[in-house]
Amino acid sequence: MKFADLGLRPELLRAVDRAGYETATPIQARAIPAVLDGRDLIACAQTGTGKTAAFLLPILQRLAAGRPSRPPRALVVAPTRELAAQITEAAREYGRHLRVRSTAIFGGVGMEPQERRLRAGLDLLVATPGRLLDHLGRGHAQLDRVATLVLDEADRMLDMGFLPAIRRILENLPADRQNLFFSATMPEEIEALIRRTAKTPTVIEVTPRATPVSAIRQVVHPVAMTGKKDLLTKLLDRAEMGPTLVFTRTKARANQLARRLEKSGRQVAAIHGDKSQSARTRALAGFRDGRIDTLIATDIAARGIDVEGISHVVNFDLPHVPEDYVHRIGRTARAGSSGHAVSLAAPEECVQLAAIERLVGSSIPRETVAGFGAALDAASPGRRRQSPRTKGRNASRGGNGPARRAASTGKASIPGSVQPFSSRSDEGAGRSRARERRRRPAR
Ligand code: AMP
Repeated sequence: MKFADLGLRPELLRAVDRAGYETATPIQARAIPAVLDGRDLIACAQTGTGKTAAFLLPILQRLAAGRPSRPPRALVVAPTRELAAQITEAAREYGRHLRVRSTAIFGGVGMEPQERRLRAGLDLLVATPGRLLDHLGRGHAQLDRVATLVLDEADRMLDMGFLPAIRRILENLPADRQNLFFSATMPEEIEALIRRTAKTPTVIEVTPRATPVSAIRQVVHPVAMTGKKDLLTKLLDRAEMGPTLVFTRTKARANQLARRLEKSGRQVAAIHGDKSQSARTRALAGFRDGRIDTLIATDIAARGIDVEGISHVVNFDLPHVPEDYVHRIGRTARAGSSGHAVSLAAPEECVQLAAIERLVGSSIPRETVAGFGAALDAASPGRRRQSPRTKGRNASRGGNGPARRAASTGKASIPGSVQPFSSRSDEGAGRSRARERRRRPAR
C-alpha cells in the first residue's frame, strides 16, 4: 500500500519519502485512515511493525489541521525514557515540514527545562507516566485540551507497575477524546482498561514487520559458563564482527562483562535500569555513531532501542523466556540487511535452549569454537526431539516450523506463530507477575 493512498497531506508524504519508506506497513495501511477518521484504535503490534509512524503520521496531520493551543492537543504515554525519546525524534522527523511542536518528558533528568517547555506551549506531548504525574501534581502540565491519547506498549507499562499512574492520567483527560492503544499482548488488566475507555474501536492485529528469518544466521556456541567471557572476547576479535549488541540476564553481569571487554581494548558501553538517563543516552548515541562497537544490555533496557546496522546480536546468557530470544535477535538484520545471532550456551542453559528451539520451530546449528565447548545436547530435551531432517541446519533454512513455512511463502518474518512477548529479567517491578500471568493475544 502506498502512503499517497492513505489520505496524508503532501508535507507528511515528503517526510515519509525522505525517511526512505516506500510502502506503508500493514499496520500503517490500516491505522492511518482510521485515525485520520477520528476513530479509536486497538492495535496488537510489537516494535518493528512500523507502529510509531502508524499513530504519529495521522496525529501530526490532525494537529496541523487544528487550531493551536498552549496545552498539548495530543498525548503519547510510553513506558521508558528511550521509547519516549525515540517517539519524539520520529515526530520531529515526520513533522519536519509542518508547524507542530512536540516534546518528550521523562524521569532521570531535571524537571525545570521540561517545565519551561510545557509552559512555553506545545502540540504533542510524549511522556513516561511517573514524570507526567509529577508535572501534573505541580501544576506544570495541563491535559484538558488533549483530543488524542496514545498508550504505547500498554502491556509493558502494566509489567512495570504503571497501571495506577495511567488511571490517574486518564482522570486528567477530557472525556471526549480519541484513544489509540498499542500493546504487543492483551493481558486481562489492559483489556479491561481498554474496554472501559475505547468507543467502538477499530481493532488491528499484526505480526512484526519483516525481519526476515532467512536474513538472520543463527548459531549456538557450546561453552562452559566460566568460559563465556573468554569466548566472547575471542569472537569479538573476528574481523566480521561489526556493531554488536550483547544481552546478559542481569545488570551485574552486564557491568562485569563491560569491565572485562574494556580491558581487552574494545569500545564498550552497558545499559540497564541502574544507569542514569544521561549515561544511557550517551551510550546509545555512541553506539549509533560508531564510537561504541559493543553495547551490552539487559532485556528491559533494550526495549524500544532501534538502532540500524547492528551486525551481530550475542546472547551472552540465554533468556529465560524464549520469546525474548526472538525479540533480541530481531535487532539485527533491520532494513533488509543481513545479520547474525550468536548464542553462548552453557550446559546449565539446555532447558532454555530447548524452549527457544521449540518456539522458532527448528534446531539452531552448533559450532564449537576451538579451545571452548561443552557437552550441550546430551542434556537438551529439545535437541533430542529434533527430527533427523531438521538436525544441524540453520533455522533460516531448515526445519518445518513456522519460520520455515513463512520463509517458503516469501513472507518470512520473525516467526508469525511466536506468541506476543513476555519479558523477564532482573529489572522491572512486575516481573514475577508478568511471568505468572498467562498472556492472551488480542481478539
Ligand atoms: P516501530 O515499529 O515503530 O518501532 O518501527 C520500526 C522501524 O521501522 C523504525 O526504524 C522505522 O523507521 C521503520 N519504518 C516504519 N515504517 C516504515 C515503512 N513504511 N517502511 C520502512 N521502514 C519503516
